[in-house]
Amino acid sequence: MNSSITFLGTGGDSIVVGKQLRASGGIIFKFGESVFLIDPGPGALVRMKQFDVNVREITAILVSHNHLNHSSDVNSVISAMTYSGIDKRGILVCDEETLHGSETEKPVISNYHKGLVERFITMKPGMKIGVNDVNIVATNAKHTQTSIGFKFYTEKFIVSYTSDTEYCKELVEDHADSDVIIVNCKNPLGLSEKGHMNTEDVVKFLEKTKPKLAILTHFGIKMLDGDPIFEAREIQKKTPSQVIAARDGMTVNPTSYASSINQKRLDSF
Ligand SMILES: [Zn+2]
Repeated sequence: MNSSITFLGTGGDSIVVGKQLRASGGIIFKFGESVFLIDPGPGALVRMKQFDVNVREITAILVSHNHLNHSSDVNSVISAMTYSGIDKRGILVCDEETLHGSETEKPVISNYHKGLVERFITMKPGMKIGVNDVNIVATNAKHTQTSIGFKFYTEKFIVSYTSDTEYCKELVEDHADSDVIIVNCKNPLGLSEKGHMNTEDVVKFLEKTKPKLAILTHFGIKMLDGDPIFEAREIQKKTPSQVIAARDGMTVNPTSYASSINQKRLDSF
């Protein structure tokens, strides 16, 4: 199976994203025949063109929560992916608030664009879906009321994405057996912020989850000032995992980090 993870952006706050100090187009997972776009923030279409991703090849779009830098371009991507519905196709996976809104927020996905995809579904932590030969589980994320992360089970490896979240017990449980974890680490050492992790939180998280590879992304301005590469090295010294800081356009092959011993497929599908 040919697989890759490509970062269409690594920016994580309104300063970094607003000035495009780092891009904010989301993340692409290519797992065999399936292409997943996770969290299409501002510039998703532009970054897909820049980093050679064909929007028409997307199998599913996944949105973890309705904050702008995770969801702003989802309608544009649906339009491009389906030729505005001439070719009704693709799967849309979101948390509850992004798709249906809440008491305080309107849905991000317009009714019109919802109608252009073949299937749309909201997920809550613990829910599972199958897309081709990839199984996806929604993970806990302590951030907005309905935020989720995503865990992808393939024949060869497990890759997961924390999305924006605080450190918590559920986070450790949900990501415990992943080979590769993409960790939204907005802040450097010493800067704590509700709803997000800093490098100290990531050390605690990786000490317990022990992935073969952890990729830090979603950097706020303080993290950029501190240099994500330096922070990643400091985290690696304290944890059993290889730790790298994502760059815009960076591609990683998850197969190199696959566990050859464990049977990774979920039996329950
Ligand atoms: Zn957020």
